[in-house]
Amino acid sequence: MAVLVCGGAGYIGSHVNKMLSRQGRETVVFDNLVYGHREAVKWGQFIQGDLKNPDEIEAVFEKYPIDAVMHFAAYAYVGESVIDPEKYYMNNVACTLNLLHAMRKHGCNKIIFSSTCATYGEPEKVPIVEDMPQNPINPYGASKLMVERVLRDYGQAYGLKYAALRYFNAAGADPEGEIGEDHTPETHLIPLVLDAASGKRPDVKVFGTDYPTRDGSCIRDYIHVNDLGSAHILALERLERGGESDCFNLGNEKGTSVLEVIEAVKKVTGKDFKVTLTDRRPGDPATLVGGSGKAKTVLGWEPRYADIETIVEHAWRWHMRKMGEMNQ
Ligand code: UDP
Repeated sequence: MAVLVCGGAGYIGSHVNKMLSRQGRETVVFDNLVYGHREAVKWGQFIQGDLKNPDEIEAVFEKYPIDAVMHFAAYAYVGESVIDPEKYYMNNVACTLNLLHAMRKHGCNKIIFSSTCATYGEPEKVPIVEDMPQNPINPYGASKLMVERVLRDYGQAYGLKYAALRYFNAAGADPEGEIGEDHTPETHLIPLVLDAASGKRPDVKVFGTDYPTRDGSCIRDYIHVNDLGSAHILALERLERGGESDCFNLGNEKGTSVLEVIEAVKKVTGKDFKVTLTDRRPGDPATLVGGSGKAKTVLGWEPRYADIETIVEHAWRWHMRKMGEMNQ
């Protein structure tokens, strides 16, 4: 039996695909390569296809004995989702309905879904726990919340078993340096700071220094991509044992400010670079920190790489390797 990894050529999907393969599982990666990278799929089968075409995803279920799905395929640029919400609802919601339809048709009833802390919107307090209100403030978060609701309803009506994993800020890279984060365009803090450290960009911009935080910059909860990966595997194993469908936050329960991330990068890389203080980026809450007690208790999850310097070190190793390959 095999695990279908939708979006397995992307950042988080490619890391989880590697971890599943290392566990000895068969995997089938399905990805349209719009944002994913073919070279990130070094494990399992690869099928290029798009969830917007029901025939393409159904063909995968016809060809392979898929008994569970991990669904990473989505657009995830918050700002873009505000400008072009249709793109997000079509891709993140409608395409997921096609996937769930194919699963139903082929008797596959287990799915691990990539949700997000963006489903909570502006939190009333931190750390955020799972039963706090979900009031997303952008179409990206809303699209993920819609899918959570669909999963709940399909669970009740059709017996679908699911885990919705609400990620905080995914960061870091494969500790063995084989794969890492590679977005075009890049909007995420850590890769941008690494670009400044390696001289690829002239500076790093700090979006806002007047937030009500300890140093005025935004605080986020950075979680290593392999720690996300181990939670996916534990969530799948739980469903395989007959566990109930549920939602889990995945974070380190620890906030790191933008300025602290920059300091960690300077320390790990030994490089100095220009830091430009600029205005706030619209839509950024001051502080997002996730309470992950539920994942720890129910799934037995324990992050291995919680330290920001370790996260940065792994990301830097990958960054240097990629730069080296580009210069060859
Ligand atoms: N950020 C920043 N400069 C950048 C990119 C991001 O100061 O060039 C800040 C951003 O305002 C946020 C934090 O870094 O507070 C993390 O942003 P990112 O885009 O990595 O993730 P998000 O929290 O938006 O999911």
